[in-house]
Amino acid sequence: MAEAETPQARFSAIVRIVAAELAAEVCSIYVMRPGEILELFATEGLRQDAVHRTRLRVGEGIVGTVAASGQALNLPDAQNHPAFAYRAETGEEAFASMLAVPVLRGGQVLGVIAVQNRDVRLYHEDEAEALETLAMLLAELVVGLSRSGGSEQGERPRALNVTLPRVFEGVGLTPGIVLGPVLCHGARPAQATVLADDPARERDRLEAAIAEMHAGLDALVTKGIGRGSASAETRDVLEAYRLIAADAGWLARIRDSVIAGLTAEAAVERELGELRARMRRVSDAYLRERLADLEDAGGRLLDHLAGRVQAEGAAPGFILLARRLGPAELLDYHARGLAGLLLEEGSPTAHATIIARALEVPLLAGGRGAVDAAEAGEAAVLDAEEGRLILRPDSEIVYGYEAAISARAVRRAVLAESALLPPLTRDGVRISVMMNAGLLADVGHLAGSGADGIGLFRTEIAWLARGGLPDAEAEEQFYARVVEGAAGRPVLFRTIDLGGDKLLPGFPHGEEENPALGWRSLRIGLDRPAMLRRQLRALLRAAAGARTLRVMFPMVTTVEEFRAAKAMLRAETASLRRAGRAPEHVLAGAMLEVPALVWQMPALLDEADFLSIGSNDLTQFLFAADRGNARVAGRYDFLSAPMLDLLAHVAALCRAASVPVSLCGEAASRPLEALAVLGVGIRSVSMPAGAVPAVKAMVRSLDLSAFSRFLAGLRRSAAGGHSLRTEIAAWARDHGITL
Ligand code: PEP
Ligand code: MG
Repeated sequence: MAEAETPQARFSAIVRIVAAELAAEVCSIYVMRPGEILELFATEGLRQDAVHRTRLRVGEGIVGTVAASGQALNLPDAQNHPAFAYRAETGEEAFASMLAVPVLRGGQVLGVIAVQNRDVRLYHEDEAEALETLAMLLAELVVGLSRSGGSEQGERPRALNVTLPRVFEGVGLTPGIVLGPVLCHGARPAQATVLADDPARERDRLEAAIAEMHAGLDALVTKGIGRGSASAETRDVLEAYRLIAADAGWLARIRDSVIAGLTAEAAVERELGELRARMRRVSDAYLRERLADLEDAGGRLLDHLAGRVQAEGAAPGFILLARRLGPAELLDYHARGLAGLLLEEGSPTAHATIIARALEVPLLAGGRGAVDAAEAGEAAVLDAEEGRLILRPDSEIVYGYEAAISARAVRRAVLAESALLPPLTRDGVRISVMMNAGLLADVGHLAGSGADGIGLFRTEIAWLARGGLPDAEAEEQFYARVVEGAAGRPVLFRTIDLGGDKLLPGFPHGEEENPALGWRSLRIGLDRPAMLRRQLRALLRAAAGARTLRVMFPMVTTVEEFRAAKAMLRAETASLRRAGRAPEHVLAGAMLEVPALVWQMPALLDEADFLSIGSNDLTQFLFAADRGNARVAGRYDFLSAPMLDLLAHVAALCRAASVPVSLCGEAASRPLEALAVLGVGIRSVSMPAGAVPAVKAMVRSLDLSAFSRFLAGLRRSAAGGHSLRTEIAAWARDHGITL
């Protein structure tokens, strides 16, 4: 390759050599072009005049499928594969089998290399392995190609208009607004050499870097564990991380690659490349977390090999843009002055999210493309309230946000002042404003938030954060600390709600086509009674010193299910009571999340001590719109007659039966939605802690009877299922409601 003078000559040499070495009749390289187009760049065996002419979209044909998935395909009979796309100009109809491998770098697909044969044959594992190693080398050439300006056909690299502002949409996971320079995570320079001159020396370098990495991590994790009030969850996450970093499997694979002749850097890169490709394929959120942790450790290893320090030289107050981030990396950046964070692949339960929440770093999840579009040092606004990142904002946007940031500070001070006042409406109705929680860190916010109690304690969160089932004693201690932290305020413990998008590693969740509608939640609890009973026992014991324990069951679909769950709670209570280890009162509640339950209300209300409406799932099931799918997120409005009528109906039945009802989930976290919930007759709402002060301020500015009359009229006049948001917001504005 060193002999070849132009990039085109190098690519042509490669396809020639590979075809000969693998005894393939065809070898072709496709390179990713702007607009997600794969261009045939060089071929041995297909028609030469197809080069630079044959183009496939990502997802189109076998090559496009490999590019879309980042996963190799080994097909004995490619032409009968459903994705096969025939391109007459190539003359490839003569070839039956195909092995296509993605050219990956930093988790991005840069192209595809493929071999084909006339015979129907399955390529051997060694051949696939060889092609994958070659694809690594090729990645460097493709990067060099785009730097040098593309093919000799006169194409220029992507013409980015780098000075224009760009907006990236996402979801705020930790609130806040930050203005600052960006720093891109993961932009480690590529290794220059792939093959080692002196493998023995390379092994020594690798071992030294591994030792340094472990020492550095131990120090960092120990420091992180000792940090602040959030240390319980931080500890769980960091301990899990430390175990993963020390895992022998991935280090052994890296050592093997070095023994096989790769440089230490190339060996780590190779392992990381495979990890990233795997990550793209796994949907199990917790497995992805494990992989994200490993990627964190791998990146650290590269830094030690290069003697580099991440974020060195970054001014404090920076906004970090990353695809993913491991917990240790986040702690590192935080120590260097991290002010805000965008994670393209962030999720509410990711390890980095848990740590960011504990550190109170504003975090935006989503914003795909931001990492690639940004250059270090460019200005940006991270708005985790509205869910967007504005890159290269113009001066008016900056001015607007500076004003918003200072207004926010003033508002926070005002809210903080009223946060501890009782949530009494202007016409004297006492509303119960509670908070949702799942970690001890959340419970720590209870007193300061001004919430009346915990209206939803998601017990599965701690299990998920730990990455497995807790032992009975640890579980009991955990609940005891929650009860203690609540200091006499009510806590509605929700029994484990696994399944759907909450998958526990090692738990037999199984593959399901529609997990949200599948084996989840109380369904699992009833099918695995030992597990549910164990949890109930832990709760009862933990609350033995308290007056009242409130337990609610999620996803109740039939009254029968509720009866069965309640019977378990009663049985456990009776046996512990005999031993003097149960609380005085044990209340059993049902969560209303499945619309079918609305039509079983009389029977349910005979059985339930209280009801809690899970607004997230109820909305998803009522409108048949996946709660996690951004494409349908804005399509149906909580503030429309179907939802408000349902809530009004439930509230009226509960009132008549004297069964307390509250609404939890995320809906009531927005003051306007909370206003409507009160307007239909519900007097108790629960929401993430951060939303409590604003909702209390709304309550204190409200004449509830006037609003209820208005809302009833509005619902009566509403035709169809369209949104009533504008009308409700207008009323709120006209009546001086604090929103
Ligand atoms: C809900 O669905 O609104 C709820 C509170 O449960 P989850 O934990 O599924 O959000
Ligand atoms: Mg739910």
